[in-house]
Amino acid sequence: MLTNDQLAKWDRENFFHPSTNLGQFARGEGPQRIVTGGSGVHITDRDGTQLLDGFAGLYCVNVGYGRTEISEAIAKQAHELAYYHAYAGHGSEASITLSKMVMDRAPKNMARVYFGLGGSDANETNIKLIWYYNNILGRPEKKKIISRWRGYHGSGLMTGSLTGLELFHKKFDLPLAQVIHTEAPYYFRRPDLTMSEAQFTAHCVAELEALIEREGPDTIAAFIGEPVLGTGGIVPPPEGYWPAIQEVLDKHDILLVVDEVVTGFGRLGSMFGSDHYGVKPDLITSAKGLTSAYAPLSASIVGQRMWDVLCRGTDEYGVLGHGWTYSAHPIGAAAGIANLELIDKLGLVENAAKTGAYLVSTMREALGDHPNVGEVRGEGMLCAVELVAERDGRRFFDASEGKGAKVVAAMLERGVIARAMPQGDILGFAPPLCLTTEEADKIVSVTRDAVTAIL
Ligand code: PLP
Repeated sequence: MLTNDQLAKWDRENFFHPSTNLGQFARGEGPQRIVTGGSGVHITDRDGTQLLDGFAGLYCVNVGYGRTEISEAIAKQAHELAYYHAYAGHGSEASITLSKMVMDRAPKNMARVYFGLGGSDANETNIKLIWYYNNILGRPEKKKIISRWRGYHGSGLMTGSLTGLELFHKKFDLPLAQVIHTEAPYYFRRPDLTMSEAQFTAHCVAELEALIEREGPDTIAAFIGEPVLGTGGIVPPPEGYWPAIQEVLDKHDILLVVDEVVTGFGRLGSMFGSDHYGVKPDLITSAKGLTSAYAPLSASIVGQRMWDVLCRGTDEYGVLGHGWTYSAHPIGAAAGIANLELIDKLGLVENAAKTGAYLVSTMREALGDHPNVGEVRGEGMLCAVELVAERDGRRFFDASEGKGAKVVAAMLERGVIARAMPQGDILGFAPPLCLTTEEADKIVSVTRDAVTAIL
């Protein structure tokens, strides 16, 4: 059996970790954790430390760890048919069944689902479909995509460009030219707080409309956004934001892509954020919650008006030249079926609404008055605590102080995982949807202790 020291050494010497300070890690600095097991909302590492995972991995293990219903479905599928492709009309029983289950849960105006592997490739698919759509409609100039500052849509070439966070652009020659960014609906970070929620919505909508006019509506193909800004800070939209945005897009014949990689399949306490906020997307991007990350799988769900044009395109030009070897992988599909069944059986969408609201309200009670907590916010099973140097003057900490990361480290010592969001000192929480009120209490008390110890 390998010793912990041996594995840690191999890790530092061989493994290129994503989103990591590479030099530091290679020199033996910075965090390192080798995780061996998980059960419910807890993970265990090789040292035997048990941690309550308040971020469900990367907001993805929605049903919690160690669900044998899913692991057994994966094993069965691997024995029977580990792989067959989905090109040219081929498929597996699992992938076809999952397509039906996804469409049964999707908003009513959606027509088909395309399976990929993760959120980034699903967004790449979506952008290609949008460009194809406008080419078939004979408007090759209508190609730009609007996304929001602080949005997160992946870290590929196009998806990294859509992402509106500096970390993902720096030194990569991103964003690409077809991408333009508009203001994030993030009231707390405005220089002044003089607007009402409704006025702030009107302001964001006016900013979007001004951008569309400036660029020319005939050059803009689509708008992409997460129902609740996720990696950009876990920020629910102001009242009325989504329907008002949709109205502007409809006026200018601009498609709406709702990126539900985090929110899809229950996290907001509704099956989809699009239904939660009352919008009709042309495309939905989903991944994480589709299989609760038991196997990699994404879904691009295509709305009816796009689907009709895609069919016209292939009637005219032949096969749609887009596909991955692992599109609709049977093992991912088997995981997806078992996962969606479990979500229904355990009532996890309802629990996300109920226990999520409890988490946000107890966090607010415990920390709302702390002089270094500017705001506690959330929606469904998503919660954020925004740290500030001074609450009253709303002065933020200097990024170099790394206060958010320090609080998160202090929480780890106390047995709870939170995420220091990449921009700003924001503690992020996105626990598995099976969280109980006792587990929520533990997250809150550890957060309060850590904030008090560090600030
Ligand atoms: N879109 C959103 C909203 C996400 O949060 C993420 C990942 O966190 C992605 C897309 C990219 O997904 P992936 O990391 O699976 O490529």
